[in-house]
Order: sequence, then C-alpha cells, then structure tokens
Amino acid sequence: MAVQGIVVENVSRVFGGLKAVDGVSLTLARGETVAIVGPNGAGKSTLVQLISGVDRADSGSIHVDGVRTDRLSSDRIARLGVGRSFQTSRVFPALTVWDSVLVGVQPGLIERPSGRLIDPVTESLGALLGLGFWRRRVKAQEAAAEAALKLFGDRLWPRRDQPALSLSYANRRRLEIARLLAAEPRYLLLDEPSAGMNPTETEELTHLILDLRRTHPQTGILVIEHKLSMVRRIADRVVVLNQGRVLIEDKPDHALDHPEVVEAYLGK
Ligand code: ADP
Ligand code: MG
Repeated sequence: MAVQGIVVENVSRVFGGLKAVDGVSLTLARGETVAIVGPNGAGKSTLVQLISGVDRADSGSIHVDGVRTDRLSSDRIARLGVGRSFQTSRVFPALTVWDSVLVGVQPGLIERPSGRLIDPVTESLGALLGLGFWRRRVKAQEAAAEAALKLFGDRLWPRRDQPALSLSYANRRRLEIARLLAAEPRYLLLDEPSAGMNPTETEELTHLILDLRRTHPQTGILVIEHKLSMVRRIADRVVVLNQGRVLIEDKPDHALDHPEVVEAYLGK
C-alpha cells in the first residue's frame, strides 16, 4: 500500500552558492498539524515552494500519498490535494469575494471576457449529458464556496459581492484560506498566515485553525509561523529550521524551549 502523507526526503535547493534548503526530511500525515519555525532566511518558504512544485529541488525526493511529486508541475500537485498559500497575500483583484472562492472550488474555472466565470469541463460535459448534470454540478460548487466563506463567520460571507480588493488585509488573508479550503484539499500549506495581523486577528486565526482541525480531521496542515504562542496551541509537532537544516523536530513545548532553538532565534 502506498505511504500516506507528504514525505520529504533529504531535499536540497541551492541558489548560487547558498544552500537555502540543505538535506531536509520531514513528514506530514493527514489529520496532523506541523509547524515550521526558524529565523528569517532559514529556508521555510523555499521548502513550501518545493513541496507545492512552484520551485524544484536539486536533490532528494518528495512524495504525496505515495506519488512522487518533485518533478510534477504545481498544477498536478494541487490536483493531488495539496493547497498552499503564499507569504504575501495574493487575491484576484478583478473578482468578487464570491468568485474568488468559486475559483478555488474548481481550479479549472476560467473567466470569460464578460467577467462571468465558467467551468469548461462542466460546460462541455453538461452539453453532452444534459442540463440536469450541469445544474447539479454548479449547485455542488456553490455549496462548497458558501461553506468555505462561512467558516469565517461574518467576516467574508456578508461581503461576498464586494471586489476582493476592497477587503481589509486580514480579510484578504482569510479569503485566501477560504479559497484553498473550498477545494477540500488533503493537505494545506500555509506560509505565515498571521503575517501582518494584529493580536486580535491572530487570535481569530488560531481559533480558525483549531476549528479546522475539528471539522477537517482528515486534512494535514503544514504551517510556517513566527508567532510561537500560536504555534504552541495549534501544532502537534514543530520542525525548527536553521540555515536550511532541521535543527530539531519535537512536540511544541520541547522544540520551542530547546536551548539551541532559543539561541537560533535570539542569536539573530
Ligand atoms: P524563510 O522563508 O525561512 O525566511 P526563504 O526560504 O525565503 O527563508 O529563503 C532562504 C534563503 O534562500 C534566503 O537566504 C533567501 O535569500 C534565499 N532565496 C530564497 N529564494 C531565492 C531565490 N529565488 N533566489 C535566490 N535566493 C533565494
Ligand atoms: Mg518565508
């Protein structure tokens, strides 16, 4: 049987002479939340780029549920159920909040010049199979989008008809996560989801992730996070990266209170 989970084995990525990621191995099982912490430049974002296929490893291997992915395109990896957010917020400026999430439900959606989103698969299959099929599929997509927006209480749902660009920064970050969740990913990779959030917003995000763990018990979450009090509350395991290498991997309190970790942070 294929090994479940994301399995990263001895992966390296060199930029010029710099080993940004240097022989890293880690695993992420479904249902598990793993936090990656470490000083700026430790290689955290690069590692997420490699897992999501946005960048390629120079050596080592990555498997997702037994499928080797380190030479696959980011689209293929997304279709294997790996959803990832970026360190800096990315929203589609022209789309409404609602359409932004609908794009997440069905990554194949394309925007017509009229601004209407269409799903080419549904349109062609719908033509073959009849209108009932098309309507059912659209209904299912809309239900998934609604559920994803409502995960954030009244933050996003009442604003669904507004342009994504009109949202506050924190709401844009929420929208990105909603868009990822709408696709019902098996694995969620979040690169500093709390970046730029104030303490109240960070607290809400912490609760969201704790809620997700309850409502999506089969989803594996890999989160890069600087706010260590949040890491202590959400993570099952912590991987500390320093200069491209895994310094320590352990339960949150063990990892974060380890003298070498304290030094790696304070030494910066
Ligand atoms: P972190 O997310 O832990 O702050 P990064 O993964 O962004 O660290 O970066 C790790 C190291 O790799 C840094 O020294 C950074 O400057 C370098 N780096 C990252 N991406 C590139 C790139 N595309 N080209 C050259 N150097 C890069
Ligand atoms: Mg980073």
